[in-house]
Parts: sequence; C-alpha cells; structure tokens
Amino acid sequence: MPARVHIREVGPRDGFQNEPERIPTAQKIELINQLGRTGLDRIEVASFVRPDVIPQLADGLEVLHGIDLPNEVSRMVLIPNERGLDNALGAREYFDEAAIFVSASETHNLRNVGRSVRDSMTGNEIVARRIREQDLRCAAVIATSFGCPFEGKVPIGTVLDIAEQFAAAGAVEIGFGDTTGMCNPKYAGEFFAAAIDRLPGVEITAHFHNTRGQGLANAYAALTAGCTSFESSFGELGGCPVPAGSTGNIATEDLVGMFHEMGIETGINLPTLIDAARQVQNVLGRTLTSHSIIAGPVDWVGEAR
Ligand code: ZN
Repeated sequence: MPARVHIREVGPRDGFQNEPERIPTAQKIELINQLGRTGLDRIEVASFVRPDVIPQLADGLEVLHGIDLPNEVSRMVLIPNERGLDNALGAREYFDEAAIFVSASETHNLRNVGRSVRDSMTGNEIVARRIREQDLRCAAVIATSFGCPFEGKVPIGTVLDIAEQFAAAGAVEIGFGDTTGMCNPKYAGEFFAAAIDRLPGVEITAHFHNTRGQGLANAYAALTAGCTSFESSFGELGGCPVPAGSTGNIATEDLVGMFHEMGIETGINLPTLIDAARQVQNVLGRTLTSHSIIAGPVDWVGEAR
C-alpha cells in the first residue's frame, strides 16, 4: 500500500456540467473556495467547451478570475480544442494545468465532439504543444476507457495506444475515465497494472464513476495495482447522461474516508470536505447520493450529527 495518494476534485467541472440547472457563478466560486480550504491540492475548476453545447460552464473565465485558492492548490481547466485554449488563455495566470481529452470509443467520441478519434488526436497534439509553450502542466483524459455505452467493451490495447500518443505529445499525466461505470474491480486491477507498465514516467490517474455501485471497489483495485492518483467529485456529482438517471463520479468524501481508514494519507481534512459536500447539496436543493454526507466519517461514532 502506498503511504499517500493524490486526489483531484472534479466536481466543479465534471459535476456542475451535468446539472440540469446552471449554478450561479457566485455560488460556484464560493463552493470552489470552500473546497480549497479542505486540504485538496488539485481542483478542476472550469472547462472551455463551447458555451452553446455546455451552458452550465459558460462562465469559465469569470470563475477563474473570481476564485481565491491557497497557492498550493493546482487549478486545472479542461480544453477541447484550440479555440477553447484561446479562450482559456484570457485568464492564463489563473490556472496551472490544462487537460485535453478524447474518447477511446469511436461512437462516443463522435457523439461527444463530432469527430473521429484520429481527428481528435491530431487536434490534441497541436493543443498539447501550445499548452506546453505556455509553461502549463499538460494532462490528458481518455473517456470510455473501460467500456462504451454504444459499443460495449473497448479493448485495452486501443486505450493504451491512445495513451502512448498523449504521452508522446507531452502529457505528463493521463487519466482513464470510466465514463458510464462499466469497469469492475478485477479488470481495474489488470488495466492499471498494464497502464503503469506501458507508460513509464507518466502519472496514471483513475477516474471512476459509481454508475453501477462499483466505483470504490474499482479504486481499491487500481490502488493495489500501483495507481496513486485519483479523480472524484464531492457529493458524488457528475457522471454522464447515458444511461439516463445514472449517478456520478465516486464521491470524494467516500474515497478520502476509505483511504484514511486504510492508513493512506490524502492531505485532506474529511469533516471539512463533508461540509463542502453538504453545502453543494444545499445549493442544488436535492439529496445527493454520497454516503458520507449521510453517515459522516467512521470516527463520528456516537456523535449525533
Ligand atoms: Zn467523471
């Protein structure tokens, strides 16, 4: 077991973009600032996809300008293409990392961004070069790495070939996303062992969704295979509209609680993180599916909360 893992909070991007209503910018800023005081040192704060496609995140520049995070918190933005990068660079000094992305499945990529995987990767290589020219840390995300809701299983070789292309383009971190919760713990263990083996020197990140209730089990399997970097979302926000009604990313507070109980350090203060998750629940006005929001940390035994 590693002594410590890294966790990136993706709720302000992956979570907020999947909400039916647009969260007011001031409330987003308050929630992100609250997350920044939990000990989290990586937060995905905005996306620069087309505002007509994802109006929920159209205020990316305002969010970047408005948030006030401790210096040690690395602020990530998601960049779909050169135009998105041009927009994000309007706030260049307000973020530290930029993530580019593609889906491993042709059908999912086509439905998501209207291009083939090959065309997306050609664009990503140009964007990656420009990100590095800006002295920004370049990360990459591969959606549907563990299965596609349209095509079914996605071969591991297809996913790792794309990962190698990203690494060659200068991505120093590659996240593997289980976009619709199709992974299982056995496959997660095999997958991350193979990814770590094939991508020396690249930070390998696990991004699991809890669509079918296997998110934490998958995270544990990835951990035992050597993965020490994870993405998750407070309140279990996020996910994907396919399948309809599905839950989101694994909840950051559930993931942090699991690691702490196993003696693995995250740098995060769990009670303050649960407070942040309860706050986003208040803002959204509906009950979220995170377990720790309801039960609290294990060491709250006997305390009425
Ligand atoms: Zn996600």
